[in-house]
Amino acid sequence: MSPRLKTKPANAETHASSPFSSEAPRRLSILGATGSIGCTTADVLDAAEGKFAVEVVAGGSNAEALARIARRTGARHAVLADDSRYAEFKALLSGTGIEVAAGAQALMEAAVRPVDMVIGAITGAAGVEPTFAAVCAGQTIALANKECLVCAGAPFMQAAEANAATILPMDSEHNAIFQAMNGKDARAITKMILTASGGPFRLSSAAQIAAATPDQALAHPNWDMGPKVTIDSASLMNKGLELIEAHYLFDVAAEKLGVLVHPQSIVHGLVTYADGAMVAGLALPDMRVPIAHCLGWPSRIASGTAQLDLAKIAELTFEAPDLERFPALELATAALQHGGVMPTILNAANEVAVELFLKNAVSFPDIARIVDQTCQYFLARGRIGVPASVSEALAVDHNAREIVRTSWPA
Ligand code: NAD
Ligand code: MG
Repeated sequence: MSPRLKTKPANAETHASSPFSSEAPRRLSILGATGSIGCTTADVLDAAEGKFAVEVVAGGSNAEALARIARRTGARHAVLADDSRYAEFKALLSGTGIEVAAGAQALMEAAVRPVDMVIGAITGAAGVEPTFAAVCAGQTIALANKECLVCAGAPFMQAAEANAATILPMDSEHNAIFQAMNGKDARAITKMILTASGGPFRLSSAAQIAAATPDQALAHPNWDMGPKVTIDSASLMNKGLELIEAHYLFDVAAEKLGVLVHPQSIVHGLVTYADGAMVAGLALPDMRVPIAHCLGWPSRIASGTAQLDLAKIAELTFEAPDLERFPALELATAALQHGGVMPTILNAANEVAVELFLKNAVSFPDIARIVDQTCQYFLARGRIGVPASVSEALAVDHNAREIVRTSWPA
């Protein structure tokens, strides 16, 4: 186990028995409950028969979807970040006994409500502040929101250490690596490899990629995910963000990190040791597996997925990523090597660029161009020091977004 993940061993032992005794269901808060991860978490909970009690569900602006998931999970509190829809949201849950609230402050309060585990599944940098609040409150966080670590990795992990918060990786590659490491110190690892499916454009020519439409980029071959992470998977920026995530999460040097394209998405992560042994984490490409692993940790619960049948799959193939057709991966690797706020700038520029692409305002290759130009802009001005705090990282994030929005209007 990496030093980061050992921050609360006593708590971990307590958790080992609590979710499975009938008197003490594990209490959860789900931040980002209406999204792909949030709904898949609800699927795992449905199969877990009363082992969990949902304290909070929180979402962005979709009042109907949040009301639905609040009823489905039997949540005690439901918090909508967008307070302009409060009256409508309240009406949707009237008579249910579910306490409702709305607005940014309510979301922050929900994140620090004491529970056994917070699921960090808000998308993008919008997830940084509430997840950070949960970290500062010393909660155990199952972290899907990789942008927390890309935007503000150093102060985020320092706060986890200082507040004895436990961070469990829910992103499938990091979850597989966490399992493959089996409690070993990250310093013993000689190489840590994350796999990528290659996305919908793995076999496309540069010309085809240049003409890609949002619908084509959203058609992921193996994973069913929210739109932002799906576009990132098509550009391979997702894998770049995940390298940065792994660096902070496991405290592993950038030089030890690598990516392999693996179209079947069965092997999610691999670690190599000095003796030449390589240990891999395998599972079907179904987020119920890492979600169930986090929910049950350090024990195991059923995820509701089929068992992996390797004879049926028959073939597992691996190839090096093509950085010419997928320059976003190289940009992210460069940002990781630069360190400081370069990953923050990269992430902010990418988020805005993906929004622009989804609105058909820019082309698919423009996403990487926008990210590159924004990183170069900050680099030329020498503004890339290590952020001293999450708020400092968020200030850089806002600044980078403004620069992209001014230079590339929608
Ligand atoms: P999604 O777009 O499906 O859902 C996002 C959730 O965040 C929704 O509940 C939405 O209401 C909420 N949200 C958005 N803006 C918000 C705001 N300002 N305040 C509060 N809530 C807000 O996204 P997703 O695919 O579920 O991904 C969530 C996170 O998990 C992302 O960081 C993604 O990279 C990561 N992740 C997702 C998958 C996957 O399979 N979907 C896999 C690995 C990692
Ligand atoms: Mg992933």
